[in-house]
Amino acid sequence: MNDLAINFSKQDGLVPCVIQDVKTLRVLMLGFMNEEAYKKTLQEKKVTFFSRSKQRLWTKGETSGNFLHLVDIAIDCDNDTLLIKVNPEGPVCHTGADTCFNEKNERWDLASLEQIIQDRKNNPTQASYTTSLIQKGINKVAQKVGEEAVELIIEAKDNNTDLFLNEAADLMYHYLVLLAAKNHSLDDVLTVLKKRQK
Ligand code: AMP
Ligand code: ZN
Ligand code: ZN
Ligand code: ZN
Repeated sequence: MNDLAINFSKQDGLVPCVIQDVKTLRVLMLGFMNEEAYKKTLQEKKVTFFSRSKQRLWTKGETSGNFLHLVDIAIDCDNDTLLIKVNPEGPVCHTGADTCFNEKNERWDLASLEQIIQDRKNNPTQASYTTSLIQKGINKVAQKVGEEAVELIIEAKDNNTDLFLNEAADLMYHYLVLLAAKNHSLDDVLTVLKKRQK
């Protein structure tokens, strides 16, 4: 990562940088770096851009505290664009959104759901069902998984697609809550499953 042969000569010494969340793979924002910004980013492990509006180096998060912690940098085929993988500390967009690209049809997956559950666990909010369930303890969470499994079995025997899918969703959600309550992640489970692959 340190020895990328970046071509800074195409656009006034600037290269566009796509910022990607290393965990969720979401595209978070786009910024520009000159060579100085690039070096500072490598040195401090926090993404620093050259701001075209401010006309100076801009460490993302310098006033908000929402830094982009550097994980990896990849370069494109002709060395003029960077793909920067980060761990974002807080929301990335100045509007308060997680990403500057809030797509309506955003991909939704278990990792996204798991992240929300983790967030509810680590930052308890009064109104959150997840928070209150986890606070009731492991036994209560495990019991809910059992209940939802039974409800799914019942709907599996029936022919109501809507009810079946809803119980399938309930089970999956409570299963993830149980993992979180036990301080495990879906990754831990996937590791076990991967080992079983012959
Ligand atoms: P920050 O770097 O997060 O401390 O924000 C400082 C200033 O940079 C904000 O007041 C905005 O003007 C601007 N800014 C922050 N985040 C973004 C972003 N994702 N895209 C464009 N401008 C931003
Ligand atoms: Zn290119
Ligand atoms: Zn934005
Ligand atoms: Zn249910």
